[in-house]
Amino acid sequence: MEEYAVIGWPLGHTMSPAVHNASFAALGLACRLGAVPLPPDRFDTFMEALPRAGLRGVAVTIPYKERVLPRCASLDDVAAAVGAANTLLVEPGGAVRGFNTDGPAATEALRAAGAEVRGARVLVLGAGGAARAVCLQLLREGAAALAIANRTAARAARLAADLGRACGVEAEAMPLGGDRLAAAAAAADIVVNTTAVGMCPRVDETPLPASAIRRGAVVMDIVYNPVETRLLREARGRGARAVPGTEMLILQAAAQEGIWLGATADLDAMRRALTCALGRSP
Ligand code: NAP
Repeated sequence: MEEYAVIGWPLGHTMSPAVHNASFAALGLACRLGAVPLPPDRFDTFMEALPRAGLRGVAVTIPYKERVLPRCASLDDVAAAVGAANTLLVEPGGAVRGFNTDGPAATEALRAAGAEVRGARVLVLGAGGAARAVCLQLLREGAAALAIANRTAARAARLAADLGRACGVEAEAMPLGGDRLAAAAAAADIVVNTTAVGMCPRVDETPLPASAIRRGAVVMDIVYNPVETRLLREARGRGARAVPGTEMLILQAAAQEGIWLGATADLDAMRRALTCALGRSP
């Protein structure tokens, strides 16, 4: 049996074991991914032991996506540019390689929903780790203009400056509210929520007033629990196209299996398992 793990803290919310184990089983692979809740004081010990722990790969979630970087012998270009990795591959000799599959999965989910990133004006809500990966990928794929709105406006400004250095594109940074946000939303072809606002259990919250959502826009929420967030419900009500975060979750997990196994994941098995796991989740 080839062993994999997902690490994070706290880890109660993770869908990774359900999704990956369903794909492994559907592909007939003798592989298993287990959840390893890792308190911060055990992180260093875990990473020091990783080269000899018998794990072939690790999925990394909050709060360790940045902390794993110095432990990696090499990084793919997305992880290096974003400064965060969500996937580790342990080579047979013990070297640990880091990857980031979040950004490419976000644009793939948009494309699957019929949204054209190239030439689009995009508004990204949030400036955390996921936003970094999503914004970089949007710019690499030719988004024409990018606005970043965040509760902590200074963090949005930092992200815009980092993107300017990485891609040579001037992104606009603004607070998550007020007239500038409304104007950016009115001009946006695509809106992506990368904040945690609207996530279970605070499902009545939304990061963007319904009145700001433009008819015909594409609105993707990377929050996936609940699948239909208030933002997506209101986007549909305003005549926008709503893209749930479940598809990005599936696609980033499928990319992880590509890295670990060189195999094409079973997307349908993953989707079915995610639906069941979310049904059991509080
Ligand atoms: P993070 O680095 O901790 O960033 C959190 C972001 O949410 C920051 O922009 C933060 O703003 C904002 N935020 C949190 N609470 C807020 C509130 N009450 N009001 C306004 N803004 C708030 O986390 P992350 O890794 O970027 O993840 C963010 C979300 O994306 C999580 O829900 C995660 O589950 C989801 N995610 C989904 C996928 C997927 O595949 N679908 C992949 C990765 C992440 P401040 O800077 O002001 O704190």
